[in-house]
Amino acid sequence: MEFVLSKKETVETNWDVIIIGGGPGGLSAALYAARGGLKTLVIEKNFNVGGNIALTSLVEDYLGIPSINGEELTQQMRKHVEQFGVKILTGEEVVSTTFGSPHIVKTRNQTFNAKILIIATGTNPRKLNVEGENEYIGKGISYCAVCDAPFFKDKTVAVIGGGNSAFDESLYLTKFVKKLILIHRREEFRADKILQDRLMKKENVEFLLNKVVQKIEKENDEMVLTLFDKKKQSTTQLRVNGIFIYIGLIPNSHLFNVDKDDRGYIITNEYMETNVKNVFAVGDVRKSPLKQVITAVSDGAIAGHTAEEKIRYE
Ligand code: NAP
Repeated sequence: MEFVLSKKETVETNWDVIIIGGGPGGLSAALYAARGGLKTLVIEKNFNVGGNIALTSLVEDYLGIPSINGEELTQQMRKHVEQFGVKILTGEEVVSTTFGSPHIVKTRNQTFNAKILIIATGTNPRKLNVEGENEYIGKGISYCAVCDAPFFKDKTVAVIGGGNSAFDESLYLTKFVKKLILIHRREEFRADKILQDRLMKKENVEFLLNKVVQKIEKENDEMVLTLFDKKKQSTTQLRVNGIFIYIGLIPNSHLFNVDKDDRGYIITNEYMETNVKNVFAVGDVRKSPLKQVITAVSDGAIAGHTAEEKIRYE
């Protein structure tokens, strides 16, 4: 049975495996499932595959590829899985799932069935949750340097955060901006030492430590941050042209009624199986000690391979 989608793309309803999310974890699961002979559909809500890594300027820690742009890497991944017959439906958001035999997956336009469901929905940026943040998203506040850095050429920007994302994205931003001020709430950084060393060598970077962002305002074309100094117990204001926020991630797991940890990450066993029969989770949405492209594709390989075994033996 076939349906015609609003974009006039015709997609079958019944699948062996449906993978929700087309980042590296989802695409790797698709590769292993398809090469195992399973009819495999990937549903990705964005128009591009790749998830967060597609928005990353430089990937330098994926074994065998010393340095590559994130978008280029994910386009190669897409080409690779499509060669093995994986169907990728982009621009289509899953709105509900009902677990069973088969599982039912509803998008805004269509309902699908699958014997196996693999959740690969990744994470979204965490918000500061301070006054002014929501108001100025896209009007001075960004969560994506690769998308928005060119708007701040020769300007001054603030980056909030002290983890790998803040440092990675700051390194990218330094190529565009006149000055970058990295604001962190502690004195120690979570970011890898190699990234810290690189950023500290940049001449156009300043660090403001022990500072907590309390409020964001906009005056004319300038963003005004109110910062609380934890040591001095006083507040100051900082004026910049743009603000980039990198303070961690929130798993996209709310749609799925499976076991999760207290932060919402999906709990799986070593085969990537959740507590629900024939429902797997892979990549950043899964509770795991390391969130990298290399760990996501490893998760995907295990899930795709296990899915094939399940269908073969059940
Ligand atoms: P992260 O490692 O969790 O770091 C979040 C940073 O934001 C921490 O410095 C944290 O401060 C700070 N923070 C959290 N909540 C805050 C708040 N409300 N106000 C101010 N600051 C706040 O998150 P991430 O940097 O987004 O990275 C996520 C994952 O992706 C990590 O596993 C990371 O290693 C990985 N990643 C890897 C690479 C790479 O290897 N090149 C690149 C990007 C991301 P505290 O330290 O004080 O908690």
